[in-house]
Amino acid sequence: MTTLGGVVTTPAATSPVSSLLDLLLPARCAGCRTGRTQLCVACRSALSRARAGPAGPVPPPAGLPPLYAAAPYADPVRQLLLAHKERGALRLAGPLGRALAAAVRSALGPATGPVLLVPMPSARQAVRARGHDPTLRMARAAVKELRRGGLRAGVAPVLLHGRAVADQSGLSAAERHRNLHGALMVPARLAARLKGRQLVLVDDLVTTGASLAEAARALRAAGCPARAAATVAATVRRGSLPAGPPAGRAPGQPQQGRGELRDTGR
Ligand SMILES: [Zn+2]
Repeated sequence: MTTLGGVVTTPAATSPVSSLLDLLLPARCAGCRTGRTQLCVACRSALSRARAGPAGPVPPPAGLPPLYAAAPYADPVRQLLLAHKERGALRLAGPLGRALAAAVRSALGPATGPVLLVPMPSARQAVRARGHDPTLRMARAAVKELRRGGLRAGVAPVLLHGRAVADQSGLSAAERHRNLHGALMVPARLAARLKGRQLVLVDDLVTTGASLAEAARALRAAGCPARAAATVAATVRRGSLPAGPPAGRAPGQPQQGRGELRDTGR
């Protein structure tokens, strides 16, 4: 454990168990199902070529902070996120975390100074079933990357589920809002340590933005508003992108599979 301005953060490290699990998994690229490694050169390069930029549902849900995503939710990024989240491909946390770090940097703009990443919380039973917390793991990897770039960064997993919510699929925007409102909270003892800190909410994927908006509400209610939100991928069309090398593919609005990774599939 380390501290960042008094806020306890968790170390940005991967467990040796991840290497063991990787050995037990078939040696095929999780992004394109070819090759002999978990992440082939082409898919690694697709991730690192992704240009982080503003993203967001139109219209955005009330209270959603400025949102930045590293890539559209399209293959191979989509497959890599699913393999990491649902199939225990833990070694992908590193490259996915680097993409998340790019989205965080994009969100911060020219601002420097310490930043705390606040991961969207996973439901306890989901963590048990998966054997890990994918968003927390990626946030730690992102922190490692931000620190490598000279930024003081930490992870602040302060959001908790205050109550259970119904499955969001098939709900209208207004119904989602009602379903999620008040679902997350920040314990007062943790909120006190976040006051005045630069916070960025982080998640793997944004679809409607309803979950991130609820997280932002919980942080505001606790007196520590998030400056921005950052995700690895976005299903929604991303806004004007900063200048950079060609991404190799255009942002799109790919189909989202039912029962797959959703911003509500916590
Ligand atoms: Zn590949």
